[in-house]
Amino acid sequence: MKRRRFLTLAPALLAPALPRSAQTAKPLQVVASFSILADMAREVAGDAAQVHSLVGPNADAHVFEPTPADAQRLAKADLVIVNGLHFEGWIDRLVRASGYRGKVVEATQGIVPRRAGRGVDPHAWQSLVHAQRYVENIRTALVAAAPMQAATIDARAKAYSARIAALDARSRAALEAIPREQRRVVSTHDAFGYLGEAYGITFIAPRSWNTDSEASAAGVAAVIRQVRLHQARALFVENITDRRSIERIAQETGARVGGTLYSDALSAPGQGAATYLEMMAHNVEAIAGALRAAAAR
Ligand SMILES: [Zn+2]
Repeated sequence: MKRRRFLTLAPALLAPALPRSAQTAKPLQVVASFSILADMAREVAGDAAQVHSLVGPNADAHVFEPTPADAQRLAKADLVIVNGLHFEGWIDRLVRASGYRGKVVEATQGIVPRRAGRGVDPHAWQSLVHAQRYVENIRTALVAAAPMQAATIDARAKAYSARIAALDARSRAALEAIPREQRRVVSTHDAFGYLGEAYGITFIAPRSWNTDSEASAAGVAAVIRQVRLHQARALFVENITDRRSIERIAQETGARVGGTLYSDALSAPGQGAATYLEMMAHNVEAIAGALRAAAAR
């Protein structure tokens, strides 16, 4: 008797292993503007969504040129998630061209941005505290679009947010172990203001935060003067810009090249910054490591 009962129950016990689409509604089709947001959305949504990134790993969202295929992708989306703060200058035109009529959610909603030049600094994801606001905005949007999945999405968002907070605490401890006046580094575009504010690091950049042109000779010369004036200890290249300007500055100043920082895009899988959390951990460790090495010389 017992054995027979087990057999009749077996299919029901196996059911949860089936893909979600076979059990309930189809996963949401979510389009995120760039790789960092797409990773956050995947973390929060789990199986509840299929997430596509318009700007891929190692690519520069500042100079992205959408294609007709991107418009088709948007046309089929249930939800579009962007950074906002004027980061995606191309998004309004793309949405109009696609005919998409759903919500365009700004992940930075509620964040008070840094001022930068005549505008605001869009790179708010470089703060792990702001990232928790991103997660909350993404969670709210996903739950509104898929209320049946609310419990799963809420639980995933809570767990992810806790991991972000834990990394924030570790990062703060690693950088606060280095004297404040030694936390001076150079990067190739002005993308790390929020990271600098969070951990008391002074970043010097040879150009403004738009990346569509090489630093001019005059710009490089100005940074060389700044590196000397501020006694910057380490120089970093980014995955979305080329190394030439930074190498020239290193040669002229004797500051060390501390490696690659990931600013506006994740790495490809397996390259060490393929998720947002990996990226932030990599950046903090690269900066802390280079500053410790400079202090030991
Ligand atoms: Zn940028």
